[in-house]
Amino acid sequence: MIAELTIDLGAIRRNVARLAAFVAPAGYAAVVKANAYGHGLVPVAQALASDVAALCVYRADEAATLREAGIATPILILGPIDPAELHGACDPRTSIALWSDGPFLDDLRRTASASGDRFGVHAKIDTGVTRLGLDRDRASAVIANYLADPHLDVRGVFTHLAAAEELESEFTLLQLERFTRALGPLEGILASRGVVRHAAASAAAMLFPNLRLDLIRAGIATYGIWPSNETRAAVAGALELEPALRWTTKLVVVRAVEAGRSVGYGCSFHTSRASRIGVLPIGYAEGIPRALSGSGVALVAGRKAPFVGRICMNMCFIDVTDVPEAAPGTCVTLVGRDGDGSIDPNDVAEAAGTIGYELVARLPSEIPRRYVETETAAIAAARSIVSS
Ligand SMILES: *Cc1c(COP(=O)(O)O)cnc(C)c1O
Repeated sequence: MIAELTIDLGAIRRNVARLAAFVAPAGYAAVVKANAYGHGLVPVAQALASDVAALCVYRADEAATLREAGIATPILILGPIDPAELHGACDPRTSIALWSDGPFLDDLRRTASASGDRFGVHAKIDTGVTRLGLDRDRASAVIANYLADPHLDVRGVFTHLAAAEELESEFTLLQLERFTRALGPLEGILASRGVVRHAAASAAAMLFPNLRLDLIRAGIATYGIWPSNETRAAVAGALELEPALRWTTKLVVVRAVEAGRSVGYGCSFHTSRASRIGVLPIGYAEGIPRALSGSGVALVAGRKAPFVGRICMNMCFIDVTDVPEAAPGTCVTLVGRDGDGSIDPNDVAEAAGTIGYELVARLPSEIPRRYVETETAAIAAARSIVSS
């Protein structure tokens, strides 16, 4: 095994419990798209199935995978659905995001008639991302049609925010105002039918209490990763998150080389001293951003070892001159804790000029994932008191 991801399902469940308590009485929908942000769709969904109000996926086939795994929790499909995939989404526990008033509605009606069921619907309104969603000036008229359509069961209305993690409160509050105004004409009927309203992803759920509405859709925070440094700084002390991911590999070889030696493609790095260069058996094909070439660190025996030279397709280099224990077979931690050291996905992302979201979403599904369920020291201690 050249690399391994260890995923702490206990940490994920505690993150959900903490953020759910923080945003209560709003409900918690866990976003498990992109292979649960690299953490593994089915195991994460199984761990959370009875702790959350809903699971959000992007594609219809992700919803089908969860149903095949026996998960009965309500699912919301956030992304576009091909008419050929509609049949599986016509299920009382599944809802689709809907923003169409075109021919797609005919596909929905035909599928619903054929299956004798209705489509659960969360109508999406665009309030400023300019991506998916109904134009807000037409939204109430189109949603009124959804509400009157016998083939549709409108369960939610929602929007998505553009800049909450950048603490852009002016634009975020403008989006809330647009959302509220678009739904104004429907207020009575939405309330009488118990239609839920939602807008906030992780960052807005933490930062903007009046955007929590009935439900939050939390992705990144579920996995213990902060949406941004600004968010982390703003909520520090009030909310704790535990990173759930550990990403490790092993040194293949350690080369003792003289000063002035070039390392890797392009001869972009030359040793400035007599050095020990460690070769790792994974590269950008295995999820290490090529932009880490010449920046960022890994942990070896709890100590920092900087990446040097260019990241190759299947290999890369770290400088282990200052880590005498480093030898072939020694564990190298790319993300997570090792001894006194710890690397957060956002640290790696920052060194690579990207965000934690991209780093974890691009972790290849082929990397073996090992699931553990830890308890915090505090919980373990409380339990031993109870049992003694
Ligand atoms: C991905 C996504 C989310 C979750 O965002 P996080 O910042 O990861 O919490 C919520 N809503 C929609 C529509 C999304 O696409």
